[in-house]
This record gives sequence, structure tokens and C-alpha cells, in this order.
Amino acid sequence: MTTQQTIDLFTQYVIGNYTRIPVVLVRGEGVHVWDADGKRYLDMFPGWAVNGIGHCHPRVTKALRDQAGILIHVANNFYNEPQGVLAELISTRSFGGQCFFCNSGAEANEAAIKLMRIHHAEQGRYKIITMHNSFHGRTLAAITATGQPKYHKGFAPLVEGFTYVPFSDLDAVKAAVDDKTCAVLVEPIQGEGGINVASRAYLQSLRNLCNDKGLLLILDEVQTGMGRTGRVFGYQHYDIEPDVMTLAKALGGGVAIGAMVAKPAIAKSLVPGTHAATFGGNPLACAAAVATFDAIEKDGLLENARLMGEYTQGKLSALRARFDLITEVRGIGLMIGVQLKGPGKDIVTKCMAKGLLINCTHDTVLRFMPPMTVRREHIDEAVAILETVLAEG
Ligand code: PLP
Repeated sequence: MTTQQTIDLFTQYVIGNYTRIPVVLVRGEGVHVWDADGKRYLDMFPGWAVNGIGHCHPRVTKALRDQAGILIHVANNFYNEPQGVLAELISTRSFGGQCFFCNSGAEANEAAIKLMRIHHAEQGRYKIITMHNSFHGRTLAAITATGQPKYHKGFAPLVEGFTYVPFSDLDAVKAAVDDKTCAVLVEPIQGEGGINVASRAYLQSLRNLCNDKGLLLILDEVQTGMGRTGRVFGYQHYDIEPDVMTLAKALGGGVAIGAMVAKPAIAKSLVPGTHAATFGGNPLACAAAVATFDAIEKDGLLENARLMGEYTQGKLSALRARFDLITEVRGIGLMIGVQLKGPGKDIVTKCMAKGLLINCTHDTVLRFMPPMTVRREHIDEAVAILETVLAEG
């Protein structure tokens, strides 16, 4: 099919809720993707942070092929081995929680919100404090949790019980707590909000505040999780533990899977009949996620994320010294934002024309989230393309 033929199918048959770039992607391998005209792109933002270990990672592809020949899906009223193995991996690599599996980040957050409600139901506490500029997904409860009014527009009435405070402002959290508050939900690094890194002091004092006030701390690790920051989970940079954590995006190496992880004493409130997801934790998706853990742990990808993260930030900081348009380079590991003085959309488009895929979030932040398999030469090439685009003005 030609590019135009595919676009025509979309125009007629696919709902137009996305702003789409007129490129049809047909193949991916590692840090590269190819379009229908055979053009190759260096992908520094693969799959909106889903392809955390690159496109079609051989371990994931093999696990999928093997598992697809054995058992693809079974209902959750039976046990299946890959789900148990994955739950153990997540639990032992984090804080010893128990997992509920679903298919996306929004669903994982939805599950966390429901867990907060049911766990505190007898006390009549239901309010959750979330942050300005946060992003938690597109279900009705997840957009309500999201502290950005643009995502709420047109969807009133929203779900009751959310209070928003500025990110990184502990006093604001303190002031927002009342006798109905049960939890605080926060991303360790705000992704869609512009790569805003929580400081160590802030997250540690937030943890202490939650302990003092009897609140649960929910960390949304949908974007920060699975190694991209150089630790398996973003919170591990902060010497704290959450009570609940949500995962999705890179968890399945490209396959749709989400997870809500909760300390056992809290998790026990989700008794049979309270929550479910038909596809959640099926053998195929879980096999892909187990293979993703294997790749991260057996191929030394955490170390690579740390090294390549420093290297990328160094190279981008050098660009900052040359171009006034760049005011800051920030991030941890391979979750990097380049703050611009003005909009970054045109820069993204020009980079794409030269074969580089990056993203612009929050209008003025260029986002680099390359796969954890990225090498120096890829980063050199990406930064060289960006430099050319900036120099051309
Ligand atoms: N939470 C965070 C931090 C995200 O960045 C996103 C998506 O960008 C979500 C939740 C929603 O995930 P999904 O699109 O898989 O529902």
C-alpha cells in the first residue's frame, strides 16, 4: 500500500482523535524505524516511551513467538504461569508489593484510584491530592487526576475528590490535606508536563508528610519505570518507597500491558468482585514483559541508560552553550528535556525531515527518550541533526 492509500483508509474509517504526522511506519529495529517509502528514521522517542528497549527487541520477539505457540490468552479465573513470574519480578525489584495487571497507564491509575476508595471506604476518606502539570491518562478518573485543565475541557462533570497543588511544593500539599484526604499521587519526573524532576528533598519530605498524616503515597511510574532513568523504577533515586506504584508503557517491550502494584496490606482490599480487566496479565503480554526484564537485567541496560543519559545530557548542554533558544537541559538517565524559549513544534518537524524522531511536550520542551539500547553513535547523529536544524533557524 502507498502512504496515501493508508492515510485514505484512516480518513474514512479511523476516528480522528489524534493529530497524525503523514508518515506510515512499517518496520522497526532497535533505534530505527522505516516508513512506507523506505525512509529510515533514528527514533529518539520510540512509541511515546513504550519501546523502552527499542523496536522489536530480539528477546521480546522471541518470547512472543514462543508464547504465541503455547497459550495467548486465558481468563483471570484461572492461573497462568507468565503472570505469576512477572508479578514476582516486579515485586522483588521494587518494594515487595502485589500486582494487578491491566493494559495501559490510565487503567493502572484507575485501579489505584479505585483501590484508594475501597481501602478507605469505612473511614469515608476518598480525596486524592495530585499535581499541577501532571499526566495520568485519559479515562474519566485519570483525566480528573491529571492536573491540567486542557484535558478536562468538555468532559464535565468530572469525578469527585481530586485536589491539585503545584508540583514540588510541600507546603501546598500540607495545606490541601483535610479529613477526607487518603492519598497523594505524583510522578517522580513529570513526563508530559515537561520533564520536571522532583527533587530528593521534596519526595522525601512528601513521603514523611504522608506517614505523619496517614496518607498513602502513589507513584505514577508509567513513564519513569522500567529502567529508563538508570534505575528499574524512578523512585529508587530517592531512597523512599511508595505504597502504590503504577506501570505501563515500557513494561511490555512494546506490547500493551499495565500494572498497579500495592503493598500487600493495602492490596488486600481488592477482594474478588471489586475490580478486573479481561485482558489483564494474559500470558502473551506477560511473556513480553518478562523478556523485557531479562533484557534490562542480563544485557546491562541500566548501566547503559546511566552512561548514555549522561552522554546525551552533556551533548545537549553543549548545544545550550551555542544556542540562546535553549535555556535548560534537564532529566535523569534517558528521560531528557530540552527547555526552549519558544515553541518546539517546528524543530521536531524539521528534525523528522532529516531522519530524526524526537517529541515536543508542553509546547516548549523537546523530549529525548531513546531506547535503553542506544549507543554513542546514535546520540552523536541525533544531536548533529538537531544542531543543523537549530543553526538553520
Ligand atoms: N501516566 C503517565 C505518567 C503517562 O505519561 C501516561 C501517558 O503518557 C499515562 C499515565 C497514561 O498511559 P496510557 O496512555 O497507557 O493510558
